[in-house]
Amino acid sequence: MARIATCTCGNLRVACAGEPEKVSLCHCLACQRRTGSTYGIAAFFRKEDVHVEGSSRRYARPSDSGFPVTFHFCPSCGSTVFWEPQRKPELLAVAVGAFADPAFPAPVQAVYAEHRHPWVEDPIG
Ligand SMILES: [Zn+2]
Ligand SMILES: [Zn+2]
Repeated sequence: MARIATCTCGNLRVACAGEPEKVSLCHCLACQRRTGSTYGIAAFFRKEDVHVEGSSRRYARPSDSGFPVTFHFCPSCGSTVFWEPQRKPELLAVAVGAFADPAFPAPVQAVYAEHRHPWVEDPIG
């Protein structure tokens, strides 16, 4: 079974086989700026289970772990579809919203809770 994540315009597509290794929600301020929302959610897949089609541009930023993260976004519509956490080079993170699938597996952890907007319920409990 493969799930397909795409940018808004459909140029950048990633097919992800199997189930995600982990789904993680992040309240950090960088995710808030990147998404324009109050948190980001990543589904981590093994690199060999992800197939990328279409063009992307990259943006790398440092992270608190000390390892940079390289984001891939569509040059036409700007959606970030996936990123490479260099702390875990065997994994790719895919933006859960890019699957546009309300049945997608729920996050199992939430990080940077200190930046959670007070009206956002803690989805992990
Ligand atoms: Zn696009
Ligand atoms: Zn974050």
